[in-house]
Amino acid sequence: MRYLTKSRFQLAMECPTKLFYTRKHEYVNNKLDDPFLLALAEGGLQVGELAKKYHPGGHDITALDHEEAESETNRLFNEEKTILFEPAIRHQNLFIRIDVLVKNGRDLELIEVKAKSYDKLEGPESFMNKNGSLSSAWRSYFYDVAFQTHVLELAMPGYKVRPYLMLIDKHVRCPTDGLHQKFRVVRNTKSHKGVSVSSQLVSEDLDPQILIKVPVDEQVKFIRSGRDSDGLVNFGAEVKRLAASYEADQRIQTPIGSKCRSCEFGRKKEDIVDGKRSGFRECWTDALDWNESDFAEPNILDLWNYRKKDARIAEGRVKLKDIKKSDIGIKSKATPGLSTSKRQWLQVRKAIDRDTTPWVDAQGLQAEMETWSYPLHFIDFETAMVALPFNKGRHPYEGVAFQFSHHTVQEDGLVAHAGEYLNTERGVFPNYRMVRELKSQLENDDGTIFRYAHHENTFLCMIHAQLRTDSEPPADQKELMTFIRCITRPERNNTQQWSSARCMVDMLELVKSYCYLPFTNGSNSLKDVLPAILNSSTALQAKYSKPIYGAEGGIESHNFKDWQWARKENGRAIDPYELLPRMFDDATEKTQELISDESELREASAAMIAYARAQYEEMSEYEREQLFQALRKYCELDTLAMVMLYEGWMDLIGSN
Ligand code: SF4
Repeated sequence: MRYLTKSRFQLAMECPTKLFYTRKHEYVNNKLDDPFLLALAEGGLQVGELAKKYHPGGHDITALDHEEAESETNRLFNEEKTILFEPAIRHQNLFIRIDVLVKNGRDLELIEVKAKSYDKLEGPESFMNKNGSLSSAWRSYFYDVAFQTHVLELAMPGYKVRPYLMLIDKHVRCPTDGLHQKFRVVRNTKSHKGVSVSSQLVSEDLDPQILIKVPVDEQVKFIRSGRDSDGLVNFGAEVKRLAASYEADQRIQTPIGSKCRSCEFGRKKEDIVDGKRSGFRECWTDALDWNESDFAEPNILDLWNYRKKDARIAEGRVKLKDIKKSDIGIKSKATPGLSTSKRQWLQVRKAIDRDTTPWVDAQGLQAEMETWSYPLHFIDFETAMVALPFNKGRHPYEGVAFQFSHHTVQEDGLVAHAGEYLNTERGVFPNYRMVRELKSQLENDDGTIFRYAHHENTFLCMIHAQLRTDSEPPADQKELMTFIRCITRPERNNTQQWSSARCMVDMLELVKSYCYLPFTNGSNSLKDVLPAILNSSTALQAKYSKPIYGAEGGIESHNFKDWQWARKENGRAIDPYELLPRMFDDATEKTQELISDESELREASAAMIAYARAQYEEMSEYEREQLFQALRKYCELDTLAMVMLYEGWMDLIGSN
């Protein structure tokens, strides 16, 4: 039986056509589907297990087989009062497993548990937009609950169903140390969902509760009555149609659009390997009658930051060569450098002319460089935001900064991996230690500090707030806060504002303003910019094609020895990230690739998952050390990538 389940319904809400491609091994699928790594990245499984602890006396329906689970559910459902975890509910071709079902006579509470933060002070108002539509941040959660409510009502007529979301209370503080470690995610477990709950869990761990139960009847009614202007007009009929199409394995045709950019069914040519089929290509061939050569031409999905993709696709102007200057609407900006629209038009022109040469505003970049002081410092952080805190007194999803890397460049061009930090201790709160180490590495001169994107600034501001509000602050609280203020720009929503003497320079903003590398295909992610700059600069290729990195008399490195970064294949420099060792031995090549590609899967970076494993997975000291080695190498390359970008610019503007 091909059932419409809650995950398939959610997939269909993204695009109904996806139902046809899902779970077919002949189609490429780029969604990370390793449940173990996903659980580590999202924390959903641990939160699900915690929710069970808040419902003592509940029965776990552990059978994975549909029929077995259903008969187990039916047997227990006969009780007048009961609590069921993961009960199997079926109605015709609809099938769901509910996280928690509380039965009290004819009243049923349907509770969907989500590892999503909820601000109880804002209340349900945050669920809606000002114009009365559902907030996009919450829409998919409500549709999920609406679908389950619909199926449960059909399967259990005569019962009154009340839907709830069980969410993470943003304001609560973790009652004890080590709560996170008591809900360990385990690979290859025989238990139902791969979380092993420690026998050391005590009642103090569960009070106050980290999860909060929020009634969502109103939102579910809103959806099912067709009042959601961006949603389904007739909920019941649409569920029926989706279920019937899935059961009959019929493809639902939907218009192509900007949503196809993130389609997991094989958008990129390099994804189509091993004779697999691309769902993306099938959709686009049907819609546009394209052949192989059409797919090879640059199209509007890659046009950077362009908001009118759907309008152009609807007009049938899908290739970049069909885009006119008036479609972009060129505007200048008040500050130096390219405006967004000018950069978009540059991308279109380069694509039309098949011009792969780099574009650099030498004058603009030179003017920026004149404001810099040597030695230059390049820093990058690795961080995690976990649902269940590691430590007592911490909030859920409070940021944890566990690693940084630091390169320097002297005025004469001498490059060095100047320092690094990685917390290797289990169960400690590493933020203050990390800032302390960063301070000791950066306070010895007034050199300009570089970051790539906002992340480092955001995290330092967050740590500043942690220091300020800590009831047991470290002895050097004031020094650490002064240091943070000195190198950051306060976030707009910061309660405290300051002006900084040595504010970090964002290289991403410099890329956007002064440099366009056609090899990036419109992406500004450092992971795409690095191979592009390496392929654009002959000086970089010449320098790094020798095994000088980590070599005696070469470039000082903490984690590499006699390493050659520029290696060519088919005339192109290989992406340096591809030269690194694999982060996880037990993950497939594809999974490894997906979690390493930050642009595709921002939430689940490889470093964050690796750190989570080292923190709370049972492993030998040798395995942990291997993981730490890989983490150090990845982070070192992140800051070396920034150095190479700087060196590439120096080459391209002729400053060498
Ligand atoms: S290519 Fe577009 S239309 Fe086809 S399944 Fe993917 S998102 Fe849907």
